[in-house]
Amino acid sequence: MAGSRFRTDPTTEERLGPQVLEDLRANLWPVDCQTCGRPLGRWGRPALEVQAEDGFAAASLHHRRCSPPAWVDGTVDVSGRRHLTWRAGCFLMQPGNVPTFLINPSYEYALLRQGDAGEWQIATLEPYKELGFQLGLSSKQPLPSPAGVSASIDEGFISVDVRHDGAMLQAWHDVHIPPDIARAAHRWGDIMVAVTTLMDVSKPFTIEGMSVLLGTDRVAVGKARLTSVSYPRAAQQVKPGDNESDHQVEAFAISAESIRRAVDFTVDDRVLAAAFALCDGKAWMIGQLTGRDKMAALLMVSSFCSLGSRDESGEPARCQGVHLITPDTESADEHMDFFSAVAAEGAAGTVGRLGASPLSDEGSAAYLADIVLGTADEYAAAFTAYGDAGPDWDLHASRGHSAIVTDTAKSDLTQAEFLRHYPKAIAIAI
Ligand SMILES: [Zn+2]
Repeated sequence: MAGSRFRTDPTTEERLGPQVLEDLRANLWPVDCQTCGRPLGRWGRPALEVQAEDGFAAASLHHRRCSPPAWVDGTVDVSGRRHLTWRAGCFLMQPGNVPTFLINPSYEYALLRQGDAGEWQIATLEPYKELGFQLGLSSKQPLPSPAGVSASIDEGFISVDVRHDGAMLQAWHDVHIPPDIARAAHRWGDIMVAVTTLMDVSKPFTIEGMSVLLGTDRVAVGKARLTSVSYPRAAQQVKPGDNESDHQVEAFAISAESIRRAVDFTVDDRVLAAAFALCDGKAWMIGQLTGRDKMAALLMVSSFCSLGSRDESGEPARCQGVHLITPDTESADEHMDFFSAVAAEGAAGTVGRLGASPLSDEGSAAYLADIVLGTADEYAAAFTAYGDAGPDWDLHASRGHSAIVTDTAKSDLTQAEFLRHYPKAIAIAI
């Protein structure tokens, strides 16, 4: 690990000793001067100032002209950290593809604590331990979920907040998160937060190196509960290659046969072509269809997209399921009649129609179906109800992987705020 160089004064050298100064070199990163806030620059070593009081000390980096190297007894100024640099990045930790938010919260500043024998040691992670983080990853213990730590993902950027007794201690906002990591966090319902001051996390690092570091007590780790997720429009596009074509052909064939048996309707080439095109993100073909032709194509696509809706034990899986959104209740009812008749043949998955109160037994069951049907208003009501209903409704709040909006005007679509929360969304315009 690269260390930073800084100038010290004789008192600091004597009080801290060579080992602690060496540790400080590994924990401090010269970005901005903690006096004036301007860059420390590439040339010249910054000055180390240590403020000490009652067995605690704060070491920070400054321009030499702003604050010369010094040991200052009597005051630890914790309020003046407005120039502190933090940086964060997201990656999937192995094994297990665990979505991880890696943060160095303190580039130019380190906390020190004095032991009983008078020796100093770095204590920058101690406040995190007190908040409920654990030091280092252990295979024996489950990861703790500190009560004050939460995260939200908004269109490709993640924000993590750390609160204690209602006060905001840290607000690490708007860090880029790649779509696959956002998706993984959405599925888990949380993201691992790893706090270290031993890395410049804005520079490339190897996941192997990170895993080694995570195994030591020099990283504080804890889970942040995800309170909301939304996706950028570009990431919601359904594109060729997203689907496995063999499964698709097989699923379409089964659906077509079920439709024939259930409602005595034969899927022709136009319907089939429209269904394939819709899975590739092209909606114009299905836009040309009407009546049972259109419903049959929608059913085949919905049924295929809902294949991952359940986990291995057959229970509804987080962040999965298809939400078909119709322009009005009559249309939703008409689709429900068609879809439920085919589902009765056992090939379309389960089908649910929204309308009952979201938190009622009926409303709850409908929302957990593999394919859900309803109007935009009904979905918005359910989305809000589950989002506000607390951890017991976490599964409901996460549901809905693919949204298919049918017979919509483009202007209505941009107003459908809740649509941002789907990993995949496709609209069939009128
Ligand atoms: Zn300065």
